[in-house]
Amino acid sequence: MSTPTAAPVPFVDLAWQHAQITDEVDAGFRRVLDATAFIDGPDVGAFETEFASFSGRRHCIGVANGTDAIELGLRALGIGRGDEVILPANTFIATAEAVDRSGATPVLVDCDADHLLIDPDLVGERITDRTRAVIGVHLYGQIAPMERLADVVAGRDVALFEDAAQAQGATRNDLGIGSWGTAATSFYPGKNLGAYGDGGAVLTDDDAVADSVRAIRNHGSSRRYYHDVKGVNSRLDTLQAVVLRAKLARLEAWNTLRREAAARYGSLLAELDGVRLPRTLDGNLHVWHLYVTEVDDRERVMEHLKEHGVGVAIHYPVPVHLHPAFADLGYSDGDFPVAEAAAPRIMSLPMFPGISADQQARVADVLTVAVGG
Ligand SMILES: *Cc1c(COP(=O)(O)O)cnc(C)c1O
Repeated sequence: MSTPTAAPVPFVDLAWQHAQITDEVDAGFRRVLDATAFIDGPDVGAFETEFASFSGRRHCIGVANGTDAIELGLRALGIGRGDEVILPANTFIATAEAVDRSGATPVLVDCDADHLLIDPDLVGERITDRTRAVIGVHLYGQIAPMERLADVVAGRDVALFEDAAQAQGATRNDLGIGSWGTAATSFYPGKNLGAYGDGGAVLTDDDAVADSVRAIRNHGSSRRYYHDVKGVNSRLDTLQAVVLRAKLARLEAWNTLRREAAARYGSLLAELDGVRLPRTLDGNLHVWHLYVTEVDDRERVMEHLKEHGVGVAIHYPVPVHLHPAFADLGYSDGDFPVAEAAAPRIMSLPMFPGISADQQARVADVLTVAVGG
């Protein structure tokens, strides 16, 4: 076993990533500045082609952020006012916000206790004649059980949609994101594929959906100053595309490092009573955006970890239906018992490419003391 270092362990370390791409980013930024190609410069199209190919999709359309990617993807499917879209109660708030922004009504379902992903068994009872889509959120870096959601919606006019903000590079039974439906992803800096600011993309194999997203992101026009639909301004910056191209070339290697780090936590923490380790759904290649454990007495455990220099976080402390912002949906405490039971117990440990075995040993040591193991 390696010797633990007493140095603080950050929750995430983006400097490690930047150190590897500094020269490429410097040269790329210079190229964009020299050409003053700030909007829709050649790097945007190049990145879109490269990321579509990486993901095995026909189209990638860059947008301003992941929340917009979900909203524009739904709008491109013709979803809007009067429609209902089903999504899990356990997700980042953006999934629900994007549905709301599209004009549709978010309809929530609980997650399963093993993986904290949308529970397909509960989706059927939420479908009404207004349901137009079901969003599988690939939470923490693993793909939701999309083929089971496909079974549930089979024979109905209900689209599958993927919130793949946390799952760039993940596969399920060897299929990548966007294999089951239109997918949206985020390039927020801390995501597995992160920009140096905001960014996002829609992935799809459907030519019409791709054309529609391209138009909506650019003021609803496919020809400059001619506007066919009401759109928005939601484009991916050229400077961000430069960063994303450099990071995409390393994404697979960095996801492998995350998997190795997850395996290392698995062995370091295996014998520790009082810490429930994250589980991987059969068939999934997990990319470990987050390493989410469950503990009793979480606030005390987190306090101890922070006092000893270990960065920890909660993803997410409050399920969607219990936020005042979504009180208008009319849900109440008790509606989604699995998500509600997990919320006060979940705790994310430091996880990033470049985390060292020493740093992880330090996390394990401090956590062991914290839970009294
Ligand atoms: C990050 C995230 C989003 C939103 O992405 P932004 O780029 O921050 O708008 C949506 N859904 C999930 C699950 C996310 O983690």
